[in-house]
Amino acid sequence: MDVKEYEKLLDKAYGELPEILKEYSRFVIPRIEARIQGKVTVIHNLGEVSKIINRKPDMLAKYLLREFGTMGSRDDQRLLMKGQFRQHQIQEKFEEFLNLYVICPECGRPDTRIIQEMRVNFLKCEACGSRHPIGVIKAAPRKEKRPEIGDVITLHVTQTGKKGDGVAKMGKYIIFISNAREGQRVKAKIKNIQGTMVFAEAVEILS
Ligand SMILES: [Zn+2]
Repeated sequence: MDVKEYEKLLDKAYGELPEILKEYSRFVIPRIEARIQGKVTVIHNLGEVSKIINRKPDMLAKYLLREFGTMGSRDDQRLLMKGQFRQHQIQEKFEEFLNLYVICPECGRPDTRIIQEMRVNFLKCEACGSRHPIGVIKAAPRKEKRPEIGDVITLHVTQTGKKGDGVAKMGKYIIFISNAREGQRVKAKIKNIQGTMVFAEAVEILS
């Protein structure tokens, strides 16, 4: 049975489930509970949220601290961050984390885990079986360079887009590269930018 047929069967089975079960199987993005207390911001449910998304609280804490360029400390449940950050800012960063390290880019489900092979981390999806290389979260705050039209940048193509383009990630930017294939390292020239979507053309294949 091919994948398409299998998916059709799944859809059919899903359609026959009672409503209540559907509710449970739909992924609801958890809400970060954060409050500013004087000069620090406290995330009250880091532990709980990490459990729901099946990631280590340390990983999420590290990501948030790096993204906000600040320091902090945590206990079992809470994360204290130096500085004042609003709930919606933190929620936004948290959802970015989900997209990078939890949600399967292939099927959109959160049933993934992180595996390491040959010192490369992969997001492995339990639902559809796909595997995508992911970056390592660096502890030090990183100044993000804004890509500009005309820039030539070196990229590692980590995915294949729907139209067959190579896809790479650079910070919050997703770069679609024509004439590039998954697995290649390329020099690419930026042709167009729309928000966090960048369109580029490979000008040199490095490896
Ligand atoms: Zn998947």
